[in-house]
Amino acid sequence: MIPVTTFKGRTVALFGLGGSGLATAMALSAGGANVIAWDDNPDSVEKALASGIATQDLRQVEWSRVSAFVLSPGVPLTHPKPHWTVDLAHAAGVEIIGDVELFVRERRAYAPDCPFIAITGTNGKSTTTALIAHILREAGRDTQLGGNIGTAILTLEPPKAGRFYVVECSSYQIDLAPSLDPTAGILLNLTPDHLDRHGTMQHYADIKERLAAGSQTAIVGVDDTFSTLIADRVERAGRRVVRISRRNVVADGIYAEGARLLFARGGTSREIADLSAIQTLRGSHNAQNAAAAIAACLAVGISEAEILKGLSSFPGLKHRMQPVARKGDVVFVNDSKATNADAAAPALSSYERIYWIAGGLPKEGGITSLRGFFPRIVKAYLIGEAAPAFAATLGDDTSYEISGTLERAVAHAAADAERDEKGPSAVMLSPACASFDQYKNFEVRGDAFVGHVAALPGVTMLVGEKG
Ligand code: ADP
Repeated sequence: MIPVTTFKGRTVALFGLGGSGLATAMALSAGGANVIAWDDNPDSVEKALASGIATQDLRQVEWSRVSAFVLSPGVPLTHPKPHWTVDLAHAAGVEIIGDVELFVRERRAYAPDCPFIAITGTNGKSTTTALIAHILREAGRDTQLGGNIGTAILTLEPPKAGRFYVVECSSYQIDLAPSLDPTAGILLNLTPDHLDRHGTMQHYADIKERLAAGSQTAIVGVDDTFSTLIADRVERAGRRVVRISRRNVVADGIYAEGARLLFARGGTSREIADLSAIQTLRGSHNAQNAAAAIAACLAVGISEAEILKGLSSFPGLKHRMQPVARKGDVVFVNDSKATNADAAAPALSSYERIYWIAGGLPKEGGITSLRGFFPRIVKAYLIGEAAPAFAATLGDDTSYEISGTLERAVAHAAADAERDEKGPSAVMLSPACASFDQYKNFEVRGDAFVGHVAALPGVTMLVGEKG
């Protein structure tokens, strides 16, 4: 745990007692702050009490005594409307921050030079974060991995010289971290997502920009207009910017030519890595992730030889284009993490004959942006609330059925793929939707997919039952 000492002897109000909220309350208490915590869910309040955290309804708190208000990133700060606690904090003129901000203040106080890599973007955050941590660990560095990727940042080991931090940041966490100052900050890409919680694309981009703007070295993917403009602005403000691209040549940075990554500086370029033999980094989206990871590792002093060693042994992540089973020349792919159309595109572009399981809780825009991939879809198996809308988009040209449940979709897709004599094919869950209409989260959905595949007769599993 990282005891938060910067509020020692002062009162901090906290709202949101889920996993990271509870960890934050404990870290503040351990550092000597007087924490008053609350949650709308009585069970969470009970749990906090049992962990020795003082709880009180924040409507009843004397806000003039409060030094800071710590908000859980899951709670609305601005959209669709500020949570009632946010209104109370604003009215009292109390700063509103999150756990990442508490971490950056501790780091500044105790080990301002310890390397800190922060990663954000609409898609590819977790892959890039895990890849960087893997490279650092393989290179023998003391590495702490956390943030949005699942391990609450304040549960990590405390900052000290020589310790490396690799932290995935959601836009909500950045919004609550006004003094975020990583050694290297990565902004991978920006496409519409979570706009229900951000209002407009511009507001969403403005929040993400703050991570790049605060970085000693900003590493920015310049394959979309919003990110390109951000790179230019951050550079004009005097920061060092390394541009990365999966599509175009860049003058100073790293770009992809197929699976080759080229390092460009001073008017020349040379190959820095070749990803073609690395199964876990297939696809041009992963070229973007790997380019960003290389740039970040170089920025914190890792050698090229160490980086190459880590890249080639990267084990990949569950639920991201993960081959989980085979039967004959049919491969079963779990891409449950693809919770929007953009995230599903890489998987659809990586296979030629696809039995595509899609649907769930639809996101804005549906699957219209995936039209270019429809010729690769032999048949679609639609599940969840999005099924009728997806069926309408697929129209008459692409064969589909409304399967309803994932179990039925897997059974039907597997049977159809097995009968396919036209060559290797993939039965792929790449839903382009959130999971919440049928599952607790994308992990549970992915595990359910793996379970249904494992139950099919004659399949060879490439992973355990739980992926
Ligand atoms: P995040 O943590 O940002 O949600 P992940 O690394 O977990 O991203 O990947 C989520 C999904 O996005 C995967 O299904 C993957 O196929 C796709 N993806 C990964 N990297 C990129 C990228 N750089 N650009 C676009 N899509 C990507």
